[in-house]
Amino acid sequence: MNRIYLDYAATTPCDKRVALAMAPYFTDKFGNPSSIHGFGQETRGAVEKAREQVARLINAKPKEIVFTSGGTEADNHALLGVAYANEKKGDHLVVSAVEHHAVLECAEFLKKRGLRVTTVPVDKYGLVDPVDVAKAIEEKTILVSVMQANNEIGTIQPIAEIAKAVKAKGAYFHTDAVQTAGHLPIDVEKLGIDLLSASAHKLYGPKGVGCLYIRKGTRLTSFLHGGAQEGGKRGSTENVPGIVGFGAAAELAGGEMETENQRVARLRDKLKEGLLAKIPESQLNGHPTDRLPNNLNITIKYVEGESMLLSLDMEGIAASTGSACSSGSLEPSHVLLAIGLPHELAHGSVRFSLGKYTTEAEIDRVLAVFPPIVERLRQMSPLYNCKE
Ligand code: PLP
Repeated sequence: MNRIYLDYAATTPCDKRVALAMAPYFTDKFGNPSSIHGFGQETRGAVEKAREQVARLINAKPKEIVFTSGGTEADNHALLGVAYANEKKGDHLVVSAVEHHAVLECAEFLKKRGLRVTTVPVDKYGLVDPVDVAKAIEEKTILVSVMQANNEIGTIQPIAEIAKAVKAKGAYFHTDAVQTAGHLPIDVEKLGIDLLSASAHKLYGPKGVGCLYIRKGTRLTSFLHGGAQEGGKRGSTENVPGIVGFGAAAELAGGEMETENQRVARLRDKLKEGLLAKIPESQLNGHPTDRLPNNLNITIKYVEGESMLLSLDMEGIAASTGSACSSGSLEPSHVLLAIGLPHELAHGSVRFSLGKYTTEAEIDRVLAVFPPIVERLRQMSPLYNCKE
């Protein structure tokens, strides 16, 4: 059975060109970039080239890029780093209700240590209103964090307007761009972003490497102490193969983004229209147009997300669900609840996320296989059989 991967928002395969670029840095080119001899200079050069490649993707200066172990670390560094470095300036953070747990749990951590956190709501599409952000900012607000696009429902936020509202009040603006870096054009200058998180494994690079963009002049503490690497902001010997891979992936993504987005959006729309037409009582989650080109999130009434995923998996099709049973909790997704879905609908959602290896034949197969799965599960569902 040919397996079909439609979970690119969870992670992407490493592009073979990226893996090739990384390969020598596991074996022949192994020097420590901090060493002054030739072995070290060779890997130092590779790390700095990657820094330029990543910076170019978001129109930053190479010096403003700090490599991290991924998106989670970058989000942690942004929130904790700003909170600790600006203790004298303020004690208040603003986050949106649909942030990734890497942001929300950091905010919670800081709250337990005495900071105040305001959570800005979203509308039924998952959009944050810049006016709500402006209203939430107080004199003591040090940081506002709103993601560029949501990982579950794909909604793209009006980042430029939000950043403008934040800057007008003198706070720092952080955006989690883990789902957008390499997928949407980003210009940190034009958008007015002070801090931005990105992760290589979401853009066909390796896992375990990401970056935090830190606008020059932004006050934040170091994340790892005990080494002078990354301009003193993150001690520890650099993950050279990972960083080289991130750089190569960023360069490829920059060049391929536009044509790839058009191709993937067409396939996604075909899947959306086909599923919504074939499955009665199904609905789209997220914004109808302001959404990631590869994201489709739908709620299907009277069936559990988990059972749909398992049935799809038996057909070799990998997707994901907003119901969090898969992550070991019975709570439905905070994102689906934030857009106003009741618990039972939030439990019945499926996310298909497409990518650069998705083909039309794969979409046709999902369109043929999934509606009968739903029909079968509904026949077994007491909820479906009790409806009048
Ligand atoms: N932020 C968002 C929006 C994400 O989607 C993810 C991963 O799914 C992360 C942060 C965490 O990134 P990483 O897996 O690189 O730690």
